[in-house]
Amino acid sequence: MSKFPKLFIPGPTHVSDEILKAFNTPQIGHRTPEISELISEIVSGVQDLLYTKNNIYLVSHPATGLWEMAIRNSVKKKVLHCVNGAFSKKWVKVSECVGVEYDVIEYEWGKAVKAEDIQSKLNENHYDAVALVHNETSTGVMSDLNKIGDMMKDFPDTCLLVDAVSSMAGVKIEVDSCSIDFIMASTQKAWGLPAGFSIACVSDKFIKKSSEIKNKGYILDVFTYDKYYSKNQTPYTPSIPHLFGLQKVLGLIKQEGLDNRWVRHKEMSKFIREWAISKGQSLYAEKGFESETVTSIRNDMNWDINKLNDMLLLKGFRMDRGYGPLRGKVFRISHMGNIFMEDLREYIENFEECLNV
Ligand code: PLP
Repeated sequence: MSKFPKLFIPGPTHVSDEILKAFNTPQIGHRTPEISELISEIVSGVQDLLYTKNNIYLVSHPATGLWEMAIRNSVKKKVLHCVNGAFSKKWVKVSECVGVEYDVIEYEWGKAVKAEDIQSKLNENHYDAVALVHNETSTGVMSDLNKIGDMMKDFPDTCLLVDAVSSMAGVKIEVDSCSIDFIMASTQKAWGLPAGFSIACVSDKFIKKSSEIKNKGYILDVFTYDKYYSKNQTPYTPSIPHLFGLQKVLGLIKQEGLDNRWVRHKEMSKFIREWAISKGQSLYAEKGFESETVTSIRNDMNWDINKLNDMLLLKGFRMDRGYGPLRGKVFRISHMGNIFMEDLREYIENFEECLNV
């Protein structure tokens, strides 16, 4: 058994050996034809995955920085934040630190963001942008981007900013038909790559808004990226191993097929939901909005989560014990990226053995 447990936490997620191997590729220069070829291949792969031709920026820091990029470049005056868990709440903190005005639609944890709630706020007030987390990793809730995107078409002066950190590459997101102006993810979730790298996809509307805003700093100004985008380069020396990793994952996604990938994640989430219910537990997410990449299970049966955690570690698996205030009361099972049905079945078999001791 490896001295490192296999990860069933919602990020970082398990990285397969073949993907890790790609990180060992020799370095190349960041202002060379070979990197431009590599970046061009990655950009078109990400565009296909997101059903868009919008610009794709490859960013050598985690997604937390992209919360700030989204706000700095699209909010002249005021943003509307939808908060339904820990990550959407942290994004509000970013707006506070950047110094823009903001309003918040606050949901009880476990609930999804609803198009009609955003619509009624937008009817009352003008907002430069609406910010929401598609898949709240803290609660396992996935909001309906299609409905939200449809509604946003009536508000063409407002940008839609979406954190898809734990859904991108695991769930079908049609950026253009959902009118998403800024969507981002880090690579350690459904992309199934190591952490420390992220991807942003931005619309022309977002870039235009940014052109009207001053004092955005340097590194998070979208124009800093835009300047190098047409050359298929990044504004600074990127994490070259991550680029090779992304190229590898995109190749694997192509082999799997996008539709098959979305179905795989749906089937894994269904399997885990049915298993949890069959054990007498219930689901934390609002019905109809259960995440397809991470399932939050309410510990109605009072399982000893710490003991299970210790036992699973001895068997070579790292479980999740629940996010922050939910620890012990709600735990999560991650099923995304490089986790396939056979991995999940193996995890559940081991989990059950621990339960039966
Ligand atoms: N947004 C969501 C929904 C997340 O789950 C996380 C991390 O778990 C983040 C943002 C922050 O991502 P990073 O740690 O890559 O900055």
